[in-house]
Amino acid sequence: MNIKKISFLIFTFLLTSSLYAQGLLEDRNNFTRQDTLRGSITPEREWWDLTYYHLDIKVNPDEKTISGKNTIQYKVLKSQQVMQIDLQEPLLLTKVTQNDKELIIKHDENAHFITLLDHQNIGDINSVIAYYEGKPREAVRAPWDGGISWKKDNNGNHFIASSCQGLGASVWWPNKDHMYDEVDSMDISVTIPKDLMNVSNGRLKSVVKNNDETITTHWHVANPINNYGVNINIGDYANFSEVYKGEKGDLDMNYYVLKDNLEKAKVHFKDAPKMMKAFEHWFGPYPFYEDSFKLVEVPYLGMEHQSSVTYGNKYKKGYLGRDLSGTGLGLKFDFIIIHEAGHEWFANNITNIDIADMWIHESFTSYSENLFLDYYYGKEASADYVIGTRRNIQNDKPLIGKYNLNNEGSSDMYNKGANMLHTLRQLVNDDEKWRQILRTLNSKFYHQTVTTKQIEDCLAEESGLDLKGFFNQYLRTTKTPVLEYKVEGKKLNYKWSNTVEDFTMPIQIEIEGESQWITPSSENKTLKLKSKNAKIKVDRDFYIDIKAL
Ligand SMILES: [Zn+2]
Repeated sequence: MNIKKISFLIFTFLLTSSLYAQGLLEDRNNFTRQDTLRGSITPEREWWDLTYYHLDIKVNPDEKTISGKNTIQYKVLKSQQVMQIDLQEPLLLTKVTQNDKELIIKHDENAHFITLLDHQNIGDINSVIAYYEGKPREAVRAPWDGGISWKKDNNGNHFIASSCQGLGASVWWPNKDHMYDEVDSMDISVTIPKDLMNVSNGRLKSVVKNNDETITTHWHVANPINNYGVNINIGDYANFSEVYKGEKGDLDMNYYVLKDNLEKAKVHFKDAPKMMKAFEHWFGPYPFYEDSFKLVEVPYLGMEHQSSVTYGNKYKKGYLGRDLSGTGLGLKFDFIIIHEAGHEWFANNITNIDIADMWIHESFTSYSENLFLDYYYGKEASADYVIGTRRNIQNDKPLIGKYNLNNEGSSDMYNKGANMLHTLRQLVNDDEKWRQILRTLNSKFYHQTVTTKQIEDCLAEESGLDLKGFFNQYLRTTKTPVLEYKVEGKKLNYKWSNTVEDFTMPIQIEIEGESQWITPSSENKTLKLKSKNAKIKVDRDFYIDIKAL
């Protein structure tokens, strides 16, 4: 990577909201066998369906090591004997057992192929135990590179957190590291020095004192969870909580912050129940009532860890105190609380099967920022904000990445994706219907992993619109549609250019202040005007370019 590219990246990093992970910063064409093993549903993965994990580990902060085991329970879908488990170097998969018998492991860098001794009968629920140890990759620029952040707080206490979006959870624990198969429930047991606390996902079941100056925290996740959503956060935490009266009843909202920040957090985290109110309105009930909602302070910016959203925005409004939209509206809320919690609906509830479809996570969640503003500050303010974020769009690559290679699309999946959805709201042209569509997505695909096709089809079906050209244009090309028009006497000539086949998006324009829909295509069309040389204004809510000839 050359200096120019690095400074460009730093520039984009500062400007955009992009919480994109490692891999996205590289424009890759040279994929390896390891990318395929990591990113595809291999024969050694597809025959078994995950049902339950029990991750049971000891974290040694002074040595920066982790050791322990993961019990992997699964249902046999096809009778096969070889199973793929992922664990990234330099961690070592030391042993795998089934029914107390040690199994042979064939290591292939980060993928490990286990030959099972017992016959695998279709429909059986079986389990293996994977033992591992070592020094996991250290996160240098979390959450963008991923791994473990081994930090200290201002009082010299250990302050440790995992983050692994994109890179994959196998950077710190052994699992089936592909998004398509979410485990149904999970237990997370973490042993740490006794003066610290560990916060993971779900509910805290117990904290057990051991006789070697350590404690073990036991957390239980009752809902399906994606691998990168699983996390450990270890620090000298203080805790406060509230009960939120939500659409599905009482929701426990718990906050874990460094002890020194307790008073500050009690004021600043008022954005959390505000967020819950706005997002339940737009998207439907919070998807994980059983697991509660938590906001957990960490030594990096933040991440959408399911039911334990991590927070490191330094108790500032906006994105570390900056407004990404340039309108001032971005300073009305804490970006990390709103954005990362928005992912509970889009990323954790509705999860992409292949990371190439990560727009499903980031476009809707970036769009959720403007819906939060809409709820509290009105439609005009929300439009100002999302339109303001267009300045960060680069149109460098399509939003959809390459399939089966663990490859993400362009970071435009944030701002361009949000503007695409804002444009779709205009096409639906009925705000209550639009809200119901967003809620339908969350009920129809409740706790599911999905493809872009499922989302595109659902949006088309629910809206009653033909959106094939629309999605092909915005998701699969870097081209911005251009509305070309020319007023000639009492005639308006208009057409779309720079578009894909079948792009016939209608658009709202004002003719002498009077609003009207037109439906351009790639062919010239003409509209009769009431007066000569009428003034034309194109609705700013549509993400397009305009060429007045
Ligand atoms: Zn995000």
